[in-house]
Amino acid sequence: MATVIFFLVHWQASVFFQSFFQHRYCAHRQFAMGKRTEKVAHFLAWFVGGSSYLTPRAYAVLHRMHHAYSDTPKDPHSPVHHPNVFKMMWRTKTIYQDLRLGRVVPEARFDGEVPSWPLLDQKLNGWGTTFTFAAGYAGIYALLGASWWMYVFLLPLHIGLGPIHGAIVNYFGHKLGYRNFETKDSSRNTLVFDVLTMGELFQNNHHRFGQSPNFGARAYEIDPCYQVMRLLGAMKIIDMSGSQKMKLPAKGKPEVVEEESAPSIAATGVEPAE
Ligand SMILES: [Zn+2]
Ligand SMILES: [Zn+2]
Repeated sequence: MATVIFFLVHWQASVFFQSFFQHRYCAHRQFAMGKRTEKVAHFLAWFVGGSSYLTPRAYAVLHRMHHAYSDTPKDPHSPVHHPNVFKMMWRTKTIYQDLRLGRVVPEARFDGEVPSWPLLDQKLNGWGTTFTFAAGYAGIYALLGASWWMYVFLLPLHIGLGPIHGAIVNYFGHKLGYRNFETKDSSRNTLVFDVLTMGELFQNNHHRFGQSPNFGARAYEIDPCYQVMRLLGAMKIIDMSGSQKMKLPAKGKPEVVEEESAPSIAATGVEPAE
């Protein structure tokens, strides 16, 4: 039981940092923080991400491409263009690794404005680090008296938490659920109570208002990550004063998004390079 609790707590912590740091901060710049706070957040994202930490730059470029090309053939991970979640994730992994290892040069408008920490993002990021963290998790399982089935079924999930969160959000968030906004893509709000991915499954709201730190639009759509961010904002640890506000859709019917207000790469907050 203690091992299952460890798994669940680590799941939530890891999805929180991935959403808060890599997604909302690095890719979108939905809020601001000081340099020292940024370092602490970067370290925590690396440490909590552990065996499946995703490099902020590669994540940000990949994600900005996703917003710009959402559900078109150029989208790095659209369920519309892949027969199943495994094929979609394989393509995502290939593009991510090409970006991480510098094998491809992304379009300039998708690059830049991302914190970089070569020690964590390059030196301590690879199979050696993955193995060390995985051995650490196995050690904690042993200390907590895990049963054999936990090593067989839980530990592999535990080691791959980052890509698993990605697979759930990118696949189901564009496949299953309801829509508040008639965006051009197939984004959906999958769960009214997103207990799996800290608010990331409000994809339809997020694609409509990409710069809003709050992914919930309706009163009952609670975004857990944003609730933590509100607390950090009240404590002056982060600054959300200049952020875009999520707006409620018109009563009863989905809002029709006009061409000029549709989410574009400008919505990531990064100006196209000259
Ligand atoms: Zn999406
Ligand atoms: Zn996004």
